[in-house]
Amino acid sequence: MSRTAIISDIHANQPALEAVLRDIEHLQCNQIACLGDIVGYNANPSECLEIIKSLNCPIIKGNHDEEAASDSNPKGMNPIAYQALMWTRQQLSEEQKEWLRRLRMVRNVPPFTIVHATLDQPALWHYIVNKFDATSNFNFQFTNMCFHGHTHVPKIFIFEQGSAQEYLATDFCPDPAQKYFINVGSVGQPRDNDWRAAYAVYDSDTNAVYFRRVEYDLQEAQKRIIDAGLPVALAERLAKGV
Ligand code: ZN
Repeated sequence: MSRTAIISDIHANQPALEAVLRDIEHLQCNQIACLGDIVGYNANPSECLEIIKSLNCPIIKGNHDEEAASDSNPKGMNPIAYQALMWTRQQLSEEQKEWLRRLRMVRNVPPFTIVHATLDQPALWHYIVNKFDATSNFNFQFTNMCFHGHTHVPKIFIFEQGSAQEYLATDFCPDPAQKYFINVGSVGQPRDNDWRAAYAVYDSDTNAVYFRRVEYDLQEAQKRIIDAGLPVALAERLAKGV
């Protein structure tokens, strides 16, 4: 039996991460893959990094992991994200930053590939919002499935007759003759108007992909944001799922 949980965009939300890991255990997944953005926005970057590290699973780098591990001034960031980034840099040890710097951009986790943003130019962190954005990814996708995150919105793109089509994130059985680019959503800061933590499961025995939503202690996550002195807006958006 092989059941892989694919988690992304944890964003330092420890209560959400712990609830998702309990759900993964309950489903008896025997493998986990992490698509990056472990840190950023929320109140437990150091704790979440240590939890993810201890899973000993395939992990790739997200844009927030890169920014948090860097000393350079970020470009084009809004004031709230900037404040959270500066705070996050202070929370992480030099060793933790070095660990983040060493994460790779793309990994092959047979039978699929994982990337944070997109396979065509992974280091440029393009947002794949619609089918037009997704088309160029498929020129660089050589596996039946590639899982990604970054937009925090679960979604499925399928390459059909030379271009990408967009579908709702509903459970499905991938056709081995097709190519699928699957957004698993976000554990720690969902943005599809549903506050519950999101992730996906691939079951190789039944060849099925499942999208999961998990309730977690939202009030606790919000309290930690306020107590840390992070912007209140970051606590408010968690409740709205935006
Ligand atoms: Zn993210």
